[in-house]
Amino acid sequence: MTNSRIYLSPPHLSGKEEYYITEAFETNWIAPLGPNVDAFEKEITEMVGAEDAVAVSSGTAAIHLALSLLGVSRGDKVFCSTLTFVASANPILYQGAEPVFIDSEPETWNMSPKALKKAFQEAVQEDQLPKAVIVVHLYGQSAKMDELLMLCNQYGVPIIEDAAESLGTTYKGKASGTFGKFGVFSFNGNKIITTSGGGMLVSNDTEALKQARFLASQARDPAPHYQHSMVGFNYRMSNLLAGVGRTQLQVLINRVIARRSIFDIYYHALKELPGFNFMQELEETEMNRWLTTLTIDETVAGVTPKELLEALNRENIEARPVWKPLHLQPLFKGARYYAHGKNNHVAETLFKTGICLPSGSNLSGKQQMRVIKCIRETVNNSISNRSYLISGKHEV
Ligand SMILES: *Cc1c(COP(=O)(O)O)cnc(C)c1O
Repeated sequence: MTNSRIYLSPPHLSGKEEYYITEAFETNWIAPLGPNVDAFEKEITEMVGAEDAVAVSSGTAAIHLALSLLGVSRGDKVFCSTLTFVASANPILYQGAEPVFIDSEPETWNMSPKALKKAFQEAVQEDQLPKAVIVVHLYGQSAKMDELLMLCNQYGVPIIEDAAESLGTTYKGKASGTFGKFGVFSFNGNKIITTSGGGMLVSNDTEALKQARFLASQARDPAPHYQHSMVGFNYRMSNLLAGVGRTQLQVLINRVIARRSIFDIYYHALKELPGFNFMQELEETEMNRWLTTLTIDETVAGVTPKELLEALNRENIEARPVWKPLHLQPLFKGARYYAHGKNNHVAETLFKTGICLPSGSNLSGKQQMRVIKCIRETVNNSISNRSYLISGKHEV
């Protein structure tokens, strides 16, 4: 009998989600607005310490709204982390603007202040600053916000934080997603908490978020006859899903604790393996450890990341490579990109060497042991194969 599948980051319900859903049914609030939406927004602002929040249908929609609010349009440039999921940059294309990709730095895997500085300097020379900088906090690790904010403030360019993967992370005691002009969270099924699908736009600019609510509900002017003067979207979150979100938010802290402890178990079980380097937590941050990630130096480890992923897959374990940098994606062929250093392409190296291990907050101890055992065996087999080959040569 084959082992049941272990997923990378499956949904983890608390069992109490039905309470608010039932209430919504009983009061007939089955709409993209209602008391759960209002309450979910309020609860998020209290949790992260932002002035206001707008619940929307996805994290992607929240990024799109942020770009719209900043007036990004055709001919504009937007700087964006290159090592991320495509959703960070797709909304730049929705607006007809041009993405410029910024490399990672090795410590956090997130946007390199050095590469950003170079991009700004060239933008000044070319007399066209970007309209926004999208800073991604990958795998729950905060980017180096002090350095990035200093640069963006120096050039007067607003930051949109793509905190889709970093809800629950703090940087210097402040919640990830509350450093930029706008912050974006996602409640997709694989994220640290979920509404099945959904997102949140947060900001301290309450006027801007008022406009976000307007744009997200078809930009309807205040008139009884449905009058419209500008293009809007249908991006609001359903009152049913907001009910799920409220319950999930109550267990966010538990989910962070669980994922951090999953990281600790992997780390202590595997850190001695040669060539295995786990992503370290940046100083003065408390990251949510959304996914446990590491790089493998195949020259020392004796296995390639690909071989390891295949071995895990054979055991019915879902593990994945690190995101493919967007400047390498066919979709963004020809887009500009700034490397961390001359001949030092950090995101590309992370893509070649990095893997993500199953990290769901509902991963059982037994399941995690299966993952660890498979990794240990794969590495050990390859080491004994190698010594066999070497000793074989001796005999010749
Ligand atoms: C999941 C994710 C998004 C998109 O969120 P959706 O809610 O799925 O639209 C954006 N950026 C990053 C980095 C993500 O991981």
